[in-house]
Amino acid sequence: MTVAGTSIGYHRFFTHRSFKTSRPVKIGLGILGSMAVQGPVLDWVSTHRRHHEVADLPEDPHTPHRGDLHATGSSFRGLLYAHIGWMFSDQEGANPHRYIPDLLTDRDARWLHRTFPVWAAAGLALPAGVGLTFTGTWEGAMSGFLWGGLVRVFLLQHATFSVNSICHSFGARTFRTPDASRNVRWLWLVTFGESWHNNHHAFPNSARFGVRSGEPDPGGLVISVLERLGLIWDVVTISPHRVSSRLTPPPR
Ligand SMILES: [Zn+2]
Ligand SMILES: [Zn+2]
Repeated sequence: MTVAGTSIGYHRFFTHRSFKTSRPVKIGLGILGSMAVQGPVLDWVSTHRRHHEVADLPEDPHTPHRGDLHATGSSFRGLLYAHIGWMFSDQEGANPHRYIPDLLTDRDARWLHRTFPVWAAAGLALPAGVGLTFTGTWEGAMSGFLWGGLVRVFLLQHATFSVNSICHSFGARTFRTPDASRNVRWLWLVTFGESWHNNHHAFPNSARFGVRSGEPDPGGLVISVLERLGLIWDVVTISPHRVSSRLTPPPR
């Protein structure tokens, strides 16, 4: 569930405005996204919008292609930096007034941002509560906390981090984009469809990241279901013509 909060909520809705929805669904998506413990929504969105603006240039917050890292001759260092190292660097955060003016004036987004610690804690406490309810023991509660809380957060974080590192390093360049983004098929399931990352850089506002047949996208599928249920609308789709006109030409 929280992977959907990150992919559909934080990323496709709050960052890229790929669809419109009601206030309760917006808040629900924001809470689910917060429970993935990847940071408060305003920080996440401003960093990600900056990534799109300057993807793989020196100012990119988490590119694996930073020149100073490669100067040492190690692309592994670049991969590690894009995966997790950038969070511990002393780089300045993306300027919120420049990148998220829409969210700064959105009371709900500001409230979600402020209450992030509550939802992050709930994301860890709820599985413990479920463990306690089903087993009636403190061992059950601890097991829920460990597997449903800590391990889940850890695995999902690394799935998201892989998009920053692996999906800017290895895989197919299906579309011509000015950055180094790639499509990585084997990661589609664990990333909820986010690993069609070259597609995403080519069409950032598209609600569906799998834009061609044979590109499974669980996030896109959930969006289709929510649209059919009438819970979201004005879903941004890319016409087959636009898709084919942007394809990277095959080598001669
Ligand atoms: Zn990217
Ligand atoms: Zn994006």
